[in-house]
Amino acid sequence: MNKGIMGKILVVDLDTSAIREETIPDEVYRSVMSGIGLAAWLLYRRIPAGADPLGPDNVLAFMSGLLTGSGAWFSGRWMAAAKSPLTGGWGDANCGGTLSPAIKRCGYDGILFTGISKKPVYLSIAGGTAELRDASHLWGLDAVEAEERLAAELKDPGVRIATIGPAGENLSLIAGISNDRGRYAGRSGLGAVMGSKRLKAIALSGKAKIDVNDSAAIKELNKKFMTWLNSGAGLRKIMSGKVLSFMARVLRISPVGMAQNGELVKIAQSRYGTISTNVISSEGGDSPVKNWKGSGFRDFPIATHADRLNPQRIVDHEVKKYHCYNCPLGCGGILNVKEAGLAETHKPEYETCCAFGALQLVNDLNAIFRINDFCNRAGFDTIGAGNTVAFAMECYERGILTKKETGGLDLSWGNSEAVLPLLELMAKRQGIGDLLADGVKKAAERIGKGSEEFAIHAGGQDLPMHDSRYDPGFAVSYSLEPTPGRHTNHGYQWLEMFALHRIFKKLPRTASFFRIGEKYKIHADRNRLMAAGSNYMQFVNAAGVCLFGVQMGGRLRLPAYVNAATGWGLGPEEYLEIGERIQNIRQAFNLKHGLVPRRDFALPGRATGKPPLDAGPMKGVTLNIQELADGFLDKMGWDRETGAPTADTLTRLGLDNIAEELFTRDLRKKKS
Ligand code: SF4
Repeated sequence: MNKGIMGKILVVDLDTSAIREETIPDEVYRSVMSGIGLAAWLLYRRIPAGADPLGPDNVLAFMSGLLTGSGAWFSGRWMAAAKSPLTGGWGDANCGGTLSPAIKRCGYDGILFTGISKKPVYLSIAGGTAELRDASHLWGLDAVEAEERLAAELKDPGVRIATIGPAGENLSLIAGISNDRGRYAGRSGLGAVMGSKRLKAIALSGKAKIDVNDSAAIKELNKKFMTWLNSGAGLRKIMSGKVLSFMARVLRISPVGMAQNGELVKIAQSRYGTISTNVISSEGGDSPVKNWKGSGFRDFPIATHADRLNPQRIVDHEVKKYHCYNCPLGCGGILNVKEAGLAETHKPEYETCCAFGALQLVNDLNAIFRINDFCNRAGFDTIGAGNTVAFAMECYERGILTKKETGGLDLSWGNSEAVLPLLELMAKRQGIGDLLADGVKKAAERIGKGSEEFAIHAGGQDLPMHDSRYDPGFAVSYSLEPTPGRHTNHGYQWLEMFALHRIFKKLPRTASFFRIGEKYKIHADRNRLMAAGSNYMQFVNAAGVCLFGVQMGGRLRLPAYVNAATGWGLGPEEYLEIGERIQNIRQAFNLKHGLVPRRDFALPGRATGKPPLDAGPMKGVTLNIQELADGFLDKMGWDRETGAPTADTLTRLGLDNIAEELFTRDLRKKKS
């Protein structure tokens, strides 16, 4: 049997309350590993074409990673997957915290839920017994309260819990799944899938042993990585919020760009977390402003934005650093913000600061702390919720929404006072909140009056806070990845940090310094790297490793870690091919469910610079989206016209069954 994995999954039928174990054949792990790979393999087969994402045929998976429990650094990510109610296609979301090892210690690589329960339930696994229990008393509680209540009831210090909040219960399509009292698998609307199944929580406690092939080799790899992680004392001494501000100002006016690099990232991330980019992103043009109407904050009435959201001002409230399971970095933090009335709350991420900051012209840091805390409790994906509020503000500015529709709320740009009450209405689906609770695509469909023009999403998924006009790599991943509108796949900045050439010797390097206009040039090396990055991230997610761990300039040697855990002895290129196989199954899932990625995930004009901005750092930029897409699709072995995997690609990856199924569909027949 394979080492490093548990070799089986648990399947819970919520229609009948039947619970059974399923053994997964060894060769499946060799083909797609575990984590997101195993989820794709399982769900492609089990979710019938045309299944209602909120109906009984959808299957919700909670997956652990292959490296989880092996001792490898950064290996505590868990993943939720299902058919997404936001996009109608493949949906997944990725989260840290402590749930991932709990899944494996219960003896499973993943837990699948089918059907719909008649009443609210939670899954308990403890002492080797799995059972569904009544969760009526938890239904209606926010995600943090529900976790605390359940933990108090179970009186088991080893239990790890994931829950949904009211947003998920009320089937908001921008709801996520929480663990560790407010850390989120936020994207793809999977909180709504959990709510549709009336599954309030899972509570996992187990002691299964995770067998590893060569734990000494893992310790050695960890040691080497730590030596590098702890180096850079000089840079560490001078790193501060002021230095980040200075760098941001220089980079804003410099005609030469500097690639992101692991040395800087490790220090900034460990000190501040993702908010380390608050200033650099808003100065440089990475942060979209005013519902993507602009870029940079200096042309907008938030002149003090970069100072207000300086990461140092946020970590001044930090009372404890937060590490996910087996993470040597600890980018998270617990804050005590008296001024915001919050005794204990998670540090907001960059995405949240921007989505509820620059995107809405909100400049009030205490408001952002409160909003972040509220979203964590209510169960909202902050990217989806932030975009939706910004969209509503633009509707209000244009007179498409008035106080009559908003129930008296003044949704003027920057009015943070109105944001919390609006989010409360969205979580409860009351009044204007019902109209907005499903993200911008659905809101625009309901509102009409031309609002579709400024509904910023890809295939229904609200766009993240990395402006594709600033990083054309994100234009590609937002519009062509199997889960569109995601920033955790690949963009040019990510490729700089991945430094894939260190692991995959045949891949080209990215330049350390470049003229700004250079990033808009499309060339074969970059296309190749984009495709490699796309496949690499699936390998990373199958391993259950944190994106930030692999953004350390290629120092985390994942192929070696996986070989140490499993004993497979595969070369890096073979692992990249596994990533490619997973990526193709995910995309094939979209095709099976009637989506045509090239058409259905197309970006709105604003995200590609149509029309170009007339001010700010992204002034005058218009992306050649056709050429960007073609270059990427060619390297992926995907069809230029549809974005679908070609028959040759699927066959090369051993996915003949999928090729056969897809090529019987009308869409594919037209192409043959
Ligand atoms: S780097 Fe941050 S998100 Fe990643 S595992 Fe560590 S604490 Fe969690």
